[in-house]
Amino acid sequence: MGGFGSGRGQCGKDTTSDMRALDVRRLQRDGLLTPGGYINWQWSINGEKVADINIRTEANRVILNYRSRSNSGEWQPMEYPAYLEWTPCNLGGRRAWFRCPARGCGRRVAILFGGSIFACRHCHKLAYQCQRETDDDRAMRRADNIRRRLGWEAGIANPEGDKPKGMHWRTFERLKAEHDAFANASWAGMAERLGLMNRRLVGLGLEPLDDMGA
Ligand SMILES: [Zn+2]
Repeated sequence: MGGFGSGRGQCGKDTTSDMRALDVRRLQRDGLLTPGGYINWQWSINGEKVADINIRTEANRVILNYRSRSNSGEWQPMEYPAYLEWTPCNLGGRRAWFRCPARGCGRRVAILFGGSIFACRHCHKLAYQCQRETDDDRAMRRADNIRRRLGWEAGIANPEGDKPKGMHWRTFERLKAEHDAFANASWAGMAERLGLMNRRLVGLGLEPLDDMGA
């Protein structure tokens, strides 16, 4: 029986490299969704096996069987079904989907991610973290748009400039206040993400990164 510790995914590339992804399309392509089928699916990094899971296929569902490490470090056996759903393809045949097994979810998804349980990215809060990152990026972009209007050098790490000639003071004060709000939101988001990243690095036994000199 295989197993892995529970990890939390993050946004972007790491989302899938960090977590154990179980892609129903891959299982279907490899002919592993036939009832009565049984496979041991393995994940490896640089050719080294890091986790595995036993999958038993029944009619319209797969039984996931693996071990998960709890906070106390004990390995816990896990076994539960992930239901399958089928939709017709344009070119004939049918396409398989997972129903997210997390309680109260049931979303139709192609990929389940394992932490301690296999669930869709929404259930793993990946969507939330990605949204946060997008919000931070947007805040930085908006701050930069204002900097351009004010004739300041782009980049919120650069010093603020003066009021451009010909601009009303009230306009300048308003734009400067907006700029500072966007810049602060962006800094806060970056600091939070750096904190998350550092917790993960430390969890892997690596050195945390310095803060951004702020
Ligand atoms: Zn879900």
